[in-house]
Order: sequence, then C-alpha cells, then structure tokens
Amino acid sequence: MQPTPSWIESANDPAGGFPLDNLAMGVFSETDGRKRLGVAIGDFVLDLSRLEEEGLLALAGEPVMNRGAWNGVMALGPAKWDEMRARLRELLGEGAPHRPAVERALVRRAGIRLHLPFDVTEFTDFYAGRHHAENVGTMFRGPENALPPNWLHMPIGYNGRASSVIVSGTPVRRPWGQIKGRDFAAPILSPSRRFDFELEMGAVIGRPSRPGEPVPTEEAERMIFGYVLLNDWSARDIQAWEYQPLGPFQAKATATSISPWIVPRAALAPFRVPTPPREVPLLPYLAEPHPMGLDIALEVALVADGGEEVIISRTNARELYYSFPQQIAHHTLSGCPMRVGDLVGSGTISGPTRESRGSMLELSWGGAEPLELPGGITRSFLEDGDEVIFRGAAGGPDLAISFGECRGRVLPAIEKPFWME
Ligand code: MN
Repeated sequence: MQPTPSWIESANDPAGGFPLDNLAMGVFSETDGRKRLGVAIGDFVLDLSRLEEEGLLALAGEPVMNRGAWNGVMALGPAKWDEMRARLRELLGEGAPHRPAVERALVRRAGIRLHLPFDVTEFTDFYAGRHHAENVGTMFRGPENALPPNWLHMPIGYNGRASSVIVSGTPVRRPWGQIKGRDFAAPILSPSRRFDFELEMGAVIGRPSRPGEPVPTEEAERMIFGYVLLNDWSARDIQAWEYQPLGPFQAKATATSISPWIVPRAALAPFRVPTPPREVPLLPYLAEPHPMGLDIALEVALVADGGEEVIISRTNARELYYSFPQQIAHHTLSGCPMRVGDLVGSGTISGPTRESRGSMLELSWGGAEPLELPGGITRSFLEDGDEVIFRGAAGGPDLAISFGECRGRVLPAIEKPFWME
C-alpha cells in the first residue's frame, strides 16, 4: 500500500506518518491561544474552523470546528464522520477544487500548540494484555496464581477518573501515598518510590449507548471515533498495598496522558488483525464477526536524567487478548451506558519477550533486574526528571499511519504540607 497522493508534498512521504490516509484529529492553537479543530496532513495542520468559515466544510447547521474539543463533531454520529473524511480527502487529494482557499487554512505543525483533543467524560481502564497480566500476577501473587480465574473469560477493568486525563507534554508530579513494605508493621506516608508508566492504547467513544442496553461487538466497533496512545501512570508501591479487594485506586489516579492526535477508526480499518487464539471459548456476546485486533507497532523511549533518549521497549497492539469492541461489549453488558467522550484504556500492552514489556515494573522485574542505560545509568522505576515517550504507527515502510507521540516528564513530589507531618 502507498499513500493516497495529495497535492501537499510532505503528505506523500511514505514514512511521514500523516498522509491523506490518516487525517489524525487534534485541537490546536497558535500564539493568540484560540483553540480550534484541525487534522494533521504532512508537515501541516489543516485548520477546519477556517474551512468552515469559508463554506468549504459544513457538517451541521451551525459551526462545529471553532471549538476546543472534538465532542461536538463526535455527537453528529458516524455518517457525519464519514462525510467529513470524504470531503477532506477530496479537498486534499490530487486535482482538488478550491485549492487556494485550502492552502490558506494550512498551518505549519512546528509552530502550533496541541491541546487535549476531546473533553473526557468518563475513563475506564481495562487489563486486556495477557503478557502484562501474567507478568504482574506472577510478581504480586506467584506464578500459580498469575492469571485471575476470570481473566480468560472476560476483559476485566476498573472505572477510572476522567478528571486526571492530560495531554502529552504535560508534566506529571510524583504522587504521595500510603506505602507498606513487606517487612513494615504499619504503612508510612511517602512519595511513591516505584512510580511507573503503562504503555496502552485508548479508544475514544464517539457514539453513546442507551442505559440498560448491551451492545454487540460489531455495534461497539462502530461507536469508536478513533484511537490514541495512552500512558496510565502508576505508583506500584501504593498499588500493592491498596489494591485488594477493590482494585487500584490512588495508584492510578495521579494522571493518565494521551497523545494529542486521535487517529480515526477508518484510517486503521486496513490494519485490523485477529486477536490471539482463545485458550478457552468465550461466551457468545464476546464473539468477533471479523478481525477486531489492531496491528500497531508501539515503542517506549526513556530520557533519564536529561541524558540521551533510549528505546526501552518495542511491542504491538495486536498482543491485546481482548479487542476494544470486546471491551466495550463487556462494559455495556450490565446496561452501563457509554457516553460521547468516553475513554477506554486497553491495559498495558506487553509482548512475550523482555524487550517488549510495557512497564518499568516488568522491564526491571519488580526492581530485581534494573535496566542498564548508557552512561552507567540504571533504572528500576522512574526518577524525578525522567521523561517517557510513547510512539505508535500502523503500516510499514510503504505507508505509515502515525499516532505521533505521547510524552510526559516526572516532576518531584510536592513538599510535605505541615498537616501531613
Ligand atoms: Mn492501566
């Protein structure tokens, strides 16, 4: 597959990641700070509010592109998403009409600021990666209890916080919490000493479901507006003490970073792959009528101590045992309604090898095997000042569909307030 040709030269670079076949969606501003919707194309972002003003893009009876979030467009529904995509492909393709006007709506990506692309109304985090679940289970409960008894029968997850979802580039403060070491008689109050990242994908729900109505997987897939990279920052020491019996709470509540670009579901349709072979048959409501996994190459880079960037993990979203449509089908089984702006995290995506593990907890095996980085630096967990960078792309050397980056730097914990002494 080659990129669909565009009159924007940089969009035709097979390795560029932002061809006409992607049209990743973001919210951007320039120096005046005015937020509006745009799509990435080559080295540019196309200002959709300007196209709308010029009468070249009209999805609704009123302007929807001069907003600070994509939720308004999402709420118009999948037929309008398709209409927008077809129109943009027409305006950016070879032999396009209105080219001078479209050219005036192009802004160089190098000079813009990117914001959280949508208002996150809800956040659920699943645990759909088998290698991660087995690795963590082995460390926390031993190899014989690695996978919980329910794991092979349903995608398990927990309801997270929408309030702490932040956009790539926003720094993250090391959290305080209750920590209890194995040899401590009682917990202590401390900044987390085992602060970590989790390499995940996120699905952005663009179409709601009704209360009380379970959604089949095929329908669930059509509710997805697009996908983002997601870093579910995690404090492992806080988690170890608090997680039984109700699951993680404060350990996962500090921050969740997402990439500024939402890659449309339509752009990833050619990269659907079957989920891994089932070890036990699933109940019929989790059946996949066609391949619903996603072939997306993922990598994690670490900049430790302001030093050089090192790739510490490479994996693929196809490792997820449960697809997003299965996660959503299970989520709605109880009648739980999904909302426009709902964010569904996949859970950490680790591969089968050491080099493909998606968290520091796994990469350093709980601190027993610290990572050795150039310059004699070692890391078991994240230190203050460390920066974590996720990158992801579907496709190959002929045609890359990029997610861009999801990055975040760890800031020191706040100073202990007097009332915590
Ligand atoms: Mn997570």
